[in-house]
Amino acid sequence: MMNRVHNFSAGPATLPLSVLEKVQNELIDYKGKGASIIEMSHRSPEYTEVNRQAVERIKKITGADDDWVVLFLQGGASSQFMMVAHNFLNNQRTANYIDTGTWSAKAIKEAKLFGNVHTSFSGKEGGYKHIPLSDELSFADDAVYTHFTSNNTVAGSQFASEPESGGAPLVCDASSDFLSRPIDLEKYGLIYAGAQKNVGPAGATVVMVRKSFLEKQRPEAIPTILNYQTHVEKLFNTPPVFAVYMINYVLEWVLEKGGLSYFEEFSTKKSDLIYNQIDKDDFYRGAVENDARSKMNITFRLPTEELEQKFISEAASEGMVNLKGHRSVGGVRASIYNACELASVKALADFMANFRSKNG
Ligand SMILES: *Cc1c(COP(=O)(O)O)cnc(C)c1O
Repeated sequence: MMNRVHNFSAGPATLPLSVLEKVQNELIDYKGKGASIIEMSHRSPEYTEVNRQAVERIKKITGADDDWVVLFLQGGASSQFMMVAHNFLNNQRTANYIDTGTWSAKAIKEAKLFGNVHTSFSGKEGGYKHIPLSDELSFADDAVYTHFTSNNTVAGSQFASEPESGGAPLVCDASSDFLSRPIDLEKYGLIYAGAQKNVGPAGATVVMVRKSFLEKQRPEAIPTILNYQTHVEKLFNTPPVFAVYMINYVLEWVLEKGGLSYFEEFSTKKSDLIYNQIDKDDFYRGAVENDARSKMNITFRLPTEELEQKFISEAASEGMVNLKGHRSVGGVRASIYNACELASVKALADFMANFRSKNG
């Protein structure tokens, strides 16, 4: 008996059922080895192959060439806030940071511990409802990189495409929209994403870094484990084997479905269903500016907080769960990452229409 809910969790988020079943089937005895993959050495031929495949699949999906290295690190996207700055900044160096949400602000706080931050734009005063246009951005001369958050998980906003960078390579926190649409890799030096939103379970952070960008590392010593070069050279210590193993199957699924162009279309189709409900009249109100809307995390308000609570609890009783907005902003948030099925989004859109006609 199976009872899977319509899961709108912001992260850890729903995963493809086919991947869960595959893992379930081979958990106890991985390919006839008499042990699961998480009970073997990370130097075993089995795990070595899993890691190799996962790296190769990410390169294939994103179109990365041999200048790019793919790493699976620990410590979450939050550790990358510090690690990026630690590797590339010092007292003499500056990086541009575009502040479009609470995660961007956290990245800025860490970067300031290591070097100079030029804030290219801050949406904080405006309640993070806006994504800046090119003419709203300013840049420092000779910045080492320009950091941005491609999708703002909490506010529910997203860059429609890469921002200007002032001539510096982009560094992107892509935690909540990685592999949801094509990436113009030419513009980037480094991309990182916590796996638990769109590519797998919690425990691994995907880091894509260009070797030519690594040449710009700061000259001062960096602790071994925090130095990207350590991980580029070899598998330095025990990686998050279970997370990478599951990510590898999610990547296989991404390729089978048709890759990034498929998911771009799929996300547009799904998010349109919800935004169409929001735009029907004044009952639902989008939480961010229309031009800033995310195709991954859809945030909206109802006329009163009482109705929002009623909406969330009635939806839950109909099997649509994890719709509560982030505690810092309130309202409703539907996270519809790659693995969120069309049927779930349709169910939510229907529920929104019914709820409006009963309570509007
Ligand atoms: C979830 C999230 C993070 C934090 O990720 P952790 O893996 O919990 O550290 C950082 N940035 C963005 C955009 C996120 O969505």
